Amino acid sequence: MAKHVTVIGGGIVGVCAALALQREGHDVVIVERDGPGENCSFGNAGIICGRDSSIPLPSPGVIRDVPAMLFDREGALVIRWRYLLSIMPWLIGFLKSSTPERQLAGARAMYALLDGTTGAYDRIAAGSPAAALIRKNGYMTVYESESGFAGDSRERGMLRDLGCPMSELGPDEIRQMEPSLSHEIRHALYYPESYSTTNPYRLTRLLADDFVAGGGTLALAEVTGLQHGNGRVTGMETTAGPMKVENLVVAAGAWSHWVAAMMGLKVLLDTERGYHMVFHGVKTGLTRAIIHADGHYGVNQLDEGLRFAGTVELAGVEAAPDYRRADLIYGRGRKLLRDFDPAQATEVTRWMGRRPTMPDYLPALGAAPGFSNTWFDFGHQHLGLSLAARCGFVVADLVGGRDPGLDLTAFRPDRF
Ligand SMILES: Cc1cc2nc3c(=O)[nH]c(=O)nc-3n(C[C@H](O)[C@H](O)[C@H](O)COP(=O)(O)OP(=O)(O)OC[C@H]3O[C@@H](n4cnc5c(N)ncnc54)[C@H](O)[C@@H]3O)c2cc1C
Repeated sequence: MAKHVTVIGGGIVGVCAALALQREGHDVVIVERDGPGENCSFGNAGIICGRDSSIPLPSPGVIRDVPAMLFDREGALVIRWRYLLSIMPWLIGFLKSSTPERQLAGARAMYALLDGTTGAYDRIAAGSPAAALIRKNGYMTVYESESGFAGDSRERGMLRDLGCPMSELGPDEIRQMEPSLSHEIRHALYYPESYSTTNPYRLTRLLADDFVAGGGTLALAEVTGLQHGNGRVTGMETTAGPMKVENLVVAAGAWSHWVAAMMGLKVLLDTERGYHMVFHGVKTGLTRAIIHADGHYGVNQLDEGLRFAGTVELAGVEAAPDYRRADLIYGRGRKLLRDFDPAQATEVTRWMGRRPTMPDYLPALGAAPGFSNTWFDFGHQHLGLSLAARCGFVVADLVGGRDPGLDLTAFRPDRF
């Protein structure tokens, strides 16, 4: 039966959920504060990962490394000390999620969720101009140092045990597949099932256009309050006036815990801020996205230029960006491609985005606790582009009252 569904958030996650719901005949409204794709979905590295990204970050090894990383201002992970007290409950959740048992349980749950990310994009982008922005040639994780490669052996072993398709490449194979890569790269892992996009922002915009062309409503407004009672959300206050709610999907990215609070719910979501630097107009021979494992950054040849993206900054939603973080990524990555010439750039831009992250690096996906007409779809951390379409179809199943064919226990929004 067709329902009226309101989706809060017009990032890639909200747009995909709205499209999946619309395809089922529901009457859908997206309420978005800034514009589709203008927040975290704007500037990511563009990798649509498959099962290769199943291993959650919290692990015994990371816990060992974190203290040293936190005191290294040039490191891949920094914390603004003023934010330490506020993020303490999240950090404690992170710590508790770092046991081998918890990590393995999370990996199994993520493996099942990530199995289907690319198929979900095939479905969501079928017949859309957005399909032309998706490359289907996998991606590579590369290593410069032997110690970096050796250091990831536990995670590699876990992925192999789970059955993830991957190949280990030596220097010759690396050069054959990506001649642009520096000869300093000694090892690589190739994940054939993954996709990437040549423009994450435009991908979101084109999918949002499909949604509107399909009869969906895009309301540009900020949700400032929710009315609820008897386990149902019934209405919302927005900057464009009040709106009635029959069914609700919360896909508000790094702001989702604030929306949950409007329903009286506490969700332990925080943000890992990341940065990018784009050299507009620069064209290299890179044919697929690359993650530099030792340097903790990604590189992608976009249609508009070359993008370096990455790092984690724990500083909350509101703090001003520190663009030195973007320069730092560039400092690490500028020698990675032999045919990269920054002097070709017509413009260089820097950007900061807020990854929405739960302490165990699993999304919050499923019914809002205690509510019969509200579902959560947020907390996709470093994988929000990858998971958006897949989770959109899961949400459509849940709203339609169907079994999504996936055990969602690990993703319960109230697990912390
Ligand atoms: C540097 C970097 C690199 C990344 N690389 C990758 C990658 O290669 N692959 C990958 O899969 N992921 C990657 N990610 C992660 C990915 O970008 C995010 O997980 C994803 O964009 C989150 O999407 P979202 O729709 O949940 O959030 P957003 O895109 O932030 O959208 C949320 C929207 O909700 C709206 N909103 C919030 N509150 C309200 C309100 N009260 N009323 C109305 N609207 C509201 C906001 O305006 C916003 O537009 C990367 C992230 C970063 C920072």
